[in-house]
Amino acid sequence: VDHELDYPKSPSEMDWSYHYPKYFTHPDQTEPSSIQNEKKVEWADVGCGFGGLLMALAPMFPDTLMLGMEIRMSVTKYVTDRIAATRQYQSMLPSNSTERENGEYQNVSVIRANAMKHIGNFFEKGQLSKIFFLFPDPHFKNRKQKARIITPGLLAEYAYVLKPGGILYTVTDVKDLHEWMALHLNNHPLFIPIPNEELTGDAILEAARTSTEEGKKVERNKGDKWVACFRRAENPED
Ligand code: SAM
Repeated sequence: VDHELDYPKSPSEMDWSYHYPKYFTHPDQTEPSSIQNEKKVEWADVGCGFGGLLMALAPMFPDTLMLGMEIRMSVTKYVTDRIAATRQYQSMLPSNSTERENGEYQNVSVIRANAMKHIGNFFEKGQLSKIFFLFPDPHFKNRKQKARIITPGLLAEYAYVLKPGGILYTVTDVKDLHEWMALHLNNHPLFIPIPNEELTGDAILEAARTSTEEGKKVERNKGDKWVACFRRAENPED
């Protein structure tokens, strides 16, 4: 329930130093610091689960800040611990180790949040350049469809935080859910479908399809995967 969820009143009130200590100084710190405080979270993995996508992308894009949003407390804690352990491990590697090339994982973090309610509390208008919805919960029954993470109403929220030209990725093994998400995205004036050919060979899409825990499970079971990606249109008033 909501009262257990911690979220800022607005994005400007969010203290990111806890999540990305190499990029943001803590508000209480009085000493001058070399930290720039200029970076912003650019990629969000909504319903990140156990964090497989983030752990795959973090070393591939070491200068991009990425955040998982996950509603389950225990799962969020798991990802938090996973990131902390990886940061520590990487920092202790000998300088000649090839694993060093994976960097320090300082660009990745996770937050416990109900993304359906509070995504706009964390990100300002047009802040994100990528938003991922990977193997979201299907909520099969008709009367439960409004609980789905992509609904016409919520698309307005996602369009708000996504910058024009930014990309929204969906991957699922549930055909009915794929059709539902694609239908509503296609119907939304701010989302333009990206033809699948345009994305073949795209390393980020490949990671989105294969590196999450759910995606790996589907692979083990030889299940199908449906992909639909959309570009955020320019704002009509611009
Ligand atoms: N994306 C991950 C993967 O591919 O392995 C996890 C997929 S899992 C089926 C869906 C995840 O979304 C669950 O971990 C669930 O707790 C999370 N979730 C559901 N509703 C959410 C919400 N409103 N905000 C944040 N996370 C949510």
